[in-house]
Amino acid sequence: MAGDVNLPEALLTPMTQGGAALAAPPPVLHEYGPAVRIGLSAASALHAPINEAGLNAQERLGIEAFKLRMRASYLDAKENRPHRSASWSGDGDQPQQHRDQGRLVPPAPPIPPAPLAVPQAPVVRRLAGRIAVGLVIVSGPGDLEMTAAQQQKIVAEVQNGLSFLGGRAPARDVTFTYDIQVASITTPAVAGQNATGSDPYEQLEAPWRDAALAAIGQPAGLSGIARYIKTIKAARSAHAAYCAFFTHYQLQHFAYCRGDYVVMHYDNDGWGTDNLDRVFAHETGHVFGAPDEYALSGCNCAGSHGVYGRPNLNCESCADKGGVPCIMKSNDWAMCTETPYHLGYTMPHLAGLSPAAGTV
Ligand SMILES: [Zn+2]
Repeated sequence: MAGDVNLPEALLTPMTQGGAALAAPPPVLHEYGPAVRIGLSAASALHAPINEAGLNAQERLGIEAFKLRMRASYLDAKENRPHRSASWSGDGDQPQQHRDQGRLVPPAPPIPPAPLAVPQAPVVRRLAGRIAVGLVIVSGPGDLEMTAAQQQKIVAEVQNGLSFLGGRAPARDVTFTYDIQVASITTPAVAGQNATGSDPYEQLEAPWRDAALAAIGQPAGLSGIARYIKTIKAARSAHAAYCAFFTHYQLQHFAYCRGDYVVMHYDNDGWGTDNLDRVFAHETGHVFGAPDEYALSGCNCAGSHGVYGRPNLNCESCADKGGVPCIMKSNDWAMCTETPYHLGYTMPHLAGLSPAAGTV
């Protein structure tokens, strides 16, 4: 078994041009390239022969992450992950997760028109169909370097977290297709600086983020992020796309989501790197419209969230007995009955209300 998400994940047969398609291909959860795809297969022992020498860098990261997730040491770490089942509100010792949503952050200044400006990427609405995920792993000088082992850890944690989200889709129609970039930059550390001004998130994020965007050939600022997302969405023929930056640079908060991008500190604050998977899954939930459900977020049981416009009935503050475990509420691989709607999963029992992937 790969990781601790309890799914029959298996490497699938590499795609070959002109090759015969399987009569009933298994759902594909992760796609790193034509040679490395991880699917859901009842034949859990299925491991297609793969010529590893011929893999590109992204495919190699994907397959190594999968192997890492199958190691006993990885499973042990997951069994003993810190603060398991704790509310994201925090419980005294562990840090809290609040202030991780864009709506809590002052709006970014408008993007001035510029020759390089491209139309904003479509807002992500639904976790359905092909989802392009851009991982920008930021490697700075000295202690800010993202080592090869840390890069591998990030890809594995993202894979584990998105296996959970994809594996929970009732229609089994979610495929994450990755673009992984290691952005090597020379921006000096800003540790110890006190962020001031109207947008401390932006103040701490902009120097390394804009350098990282330049390193991957994109313009600075939010227009650069939008351009990158639009590019990977088109290149992967995806229904939706978002991106995430992983960094050692000081942040205003260790993990947050702004619009259709996520920022994560590698150390993951007191939750620790073995919880990067769940924090990443939580932040991805926000990208697709799922609200926080832990009390400290200030949630309430009303509202209209996600493409189905459902209320936040599992909000810890007002749900019966504080609600049930859910990735949007606590450090669990669990989901309440509302979050699937908030995420916009295709709901087979609501065929008339469930628009085709990518049309909303
Ligand atoms: Zn949150």
